[in-house]
Amino acid sequence: MALPENPIMFANNPLDRAGHLRGDEQWLAGQFASDTALLVPMWRLAPLVLPEIAPGEGRDVGWLPRAAFGDQLRPDSLVVFLGLNRRGKPLFAVDISHMSNPEDMGPFKGLGVFEDLRALAAIGDMPRTELAILAQAKGMLDWNMRHGFCAQCGQASEIKEGGYKRICGACQSEHFPRTDPVVIMLATHGDDCLIGRQKGWPENMFSALAGFMEPGETIEEAVARELMEEAGIEINSVSYIGTQPWPFPGSLMIGCMAEAQTREINMGDDELEDAKWVSRADVQSSMAGNGPLGVPPEMAIAFQLMKAFGKGR
Ligand SMILES: [Zn+2]
Repeated sequence: MALPENPIMFANNPLDRAGHLRGDEQWLAGQFASDTALLVPMWRLAPLVLPEIAPGEGRDVGWLPRAAFGDQLRPDSLVVFLGLNRRGKPLFAVDISHMSNPEDMGPFKGLGVFEDLRALAAIGDMPRTELAILAQAKGMLDWNMRHGFCAQCGQASEIKEGGYKRICGACQSEHFPRTDPVVIMLATHGDDCLIGRQKGWPENMFSALAGFMEPGETIEEAVARELMEEAGIEINSVSYIGTQPWPFPGSLMIGCMAEAQTREINMGDDELEDAKWVSRADVQSSMAGNGPLGVPPEMAIAFQLMKAFGKGR
């Protein structure tokens, strides 16, 4: 892929998802049976992470050959296909949630730890491309685990195409993995931008406002609605900054800037504990760690929005 390097966490997934091949059951079975296949075990949606070889070198995803799973790879194991890496090796994620304590018992004992993806991304001690693959693995397993039954008739559905489709055995409905769009935005007015905070966040931490898109809405309309609902701000234009896969459990964050027409804040829907306008200078100094605000972690697209604003967007 010839896209430029993207600073957004969970972007830059390097795999060839082989969408034109994975529908062929024989091909997929052959890839899974192949000695070159690499599988990451995921326990309750947390991937296996291997320790550093030497201090400072960073940790690795627990990509294992099929044989390393022993009898924990069962005929009914939930397995999703992730894609082919640049060496053509097929990568899969396997759910091992049935195990009670895989770090201390069974075939994965002593190999490493099963770590929550959000925590892994916050620590950031593995390559970004690997974190992007884990985001895909988490999103895919999560969706398949929550969609074992047909939304149309309630009967059990069956996994197809490596997890990219489920088919209902009773009514033949097809179901596809969902991505739920969320708009996240900074309203700007001259040299100020609008930020808010929710109850329970770390003290003094502020971030961009956000909300789920609704059916029948454009991105621009969702941005305008959310800013009106949460802060009473009217806007007159929206520009797009970037998107972030956010598999908690299945969102796509759509990062935008919005030019505000009004400045008076009116927190209507109780979603926010506080909202305020802050200057570009305060955003810049806070991003540098010596300003008046707590800012979101670097892994959040809100961080990239505030960074872009600090740089003059
Ligand atoms: Zn059905």
